[in-house]
Amino acid sequence: MTESLKLLNPGPVTLTARVRAAMTRPDLCHREPEFEALQFEIRDGLTRVYPEAAATHTAVLLTGSGTSAVETMVGSLVPRSGRAVVAVNGFYGERIAAMLELQGKTALHARSPFDRPIDLNAVARLLGEEQGVTHVIAVHHETTTGRLNDLAALGALCRERRVPLLVDAVSSFGGEPIEFADWNLEAVASVANKCLHGAPGVAFVLARKDRLAEGASGATSLYLDLFRHDAEQQKRSTAFTQAVPACQALSEALRELNEGGGWRARHRHYRALSERVFRGLAALGVQPLLDIEEPSSSVLTSYRLPAGCAYPPLHDALKRAGFVIYAGQGALAATIFRIAVMGDLSMADIERLLGAIEHHLVAREMSPHVAGATAAT
Ligand SMILES: *Cc1c(COP(=O)(O)O)cnc(C)c1O
Repeated sequence: MTESLKLLNPGPVTLTARVRAAMTRPDLCHREPEFEALQFEIRDGLTRVYPEAAATHTAVLLTGSGTSAVETMVGSLVPRSGRAVVAVNGFYGERIAAMLELQGKTALHARSPFDRPIDLNAVARLLGEEQGVTHVIAVHHETTTGRLNDLAALGALCRERRVPLLVDAVSSFGGEPIEFADWNLEAVASVANKCLHGAPGVAFVLARKDRLAEGASGATSLYLDLFRHDAEQQKRSTAFTQAVPACQALSEALRELNEGGGWRARHRHYRALSERVFRGLAALGVQPLLDIEEPSSSVLTSYRLPAGCAYPPLHDALKRAGFVIYAGQGALAATIFRIAVMGDLSMADIERLLGAIEHHLVAREMSPHVAGATAAT
């Protein structure tokens, strides 16, 4: 059964056979021309996922998980002893603020409850009141809840106030719209193993070419320095050892993305799958966490655990049926579950998933334990 498990967690994703096979290509030295060519092709491909980005932004390839790319972006672009406004409405926004603080920088929090949109008024107020703010930083798709944050509105505010925007697009790059020309984007950070359908091990930052050319790194880490990596990669070299098999997988995944119609086609596919899950669960009386009529991001949706339905048995029953779902984080762990639709996943898989969920919920209702509990209330 393990062989055919479908991963409905928000990365790593179920790989297609061709991407998995790419990882068994012959070994490469990261200092030989074959790897230089591979790295160049990947960087070029990443700037073309959103074609308009290629004119203004460069892709810097990093070895690490998505967090390493976010930390490299924030650490290098926000100046030492700099101040940034962080829009927080989930755990990933909190993580960015924590990174800044560890780097000795000031994170000005524009907070809203995790089930609410970004507080634009709070961002505007901080930009008006605080001196020396160099950046606004936000998460695009807040994977904590499945909310796709409104970066068109936030980007317009940043443009008006002439403050560059840095974005954690780890769980949206390749699957959701990103407007490089309109959102005042200095940089976005993302990873191979979410919407791009590559393997875990490599991540990247797409940063403005003019900002990279300026230099002046704010990095407080030798390894997580965007400018160091960029300088080497511009010379078709690499600062440190890259995760070669994960690079092979990413290059194949980018090819597959382009052949399939690019990010727009992938977005439509995700949306169709997420809406099917949403309607199927609504028919079973399972409600979304957010107050929404349809999934907010196309990538992941959070649902409230039905009364009397604990997460562990639901998870285990679905795993036996061939699916890995995802728990909520922190206080949400006891109240929600999450379904992501990235990776090698078809509508037929979703129909099977809905059948398995229905089976679990019905079996639970018919069990004497639960029936007794219901009669007692
Ligand atoms: C997955 C994710 C990350 C990074 O997670 P890693 O485990 O480091 O890959 C960062 N931000 C968001 C929004 C994510 O969904």
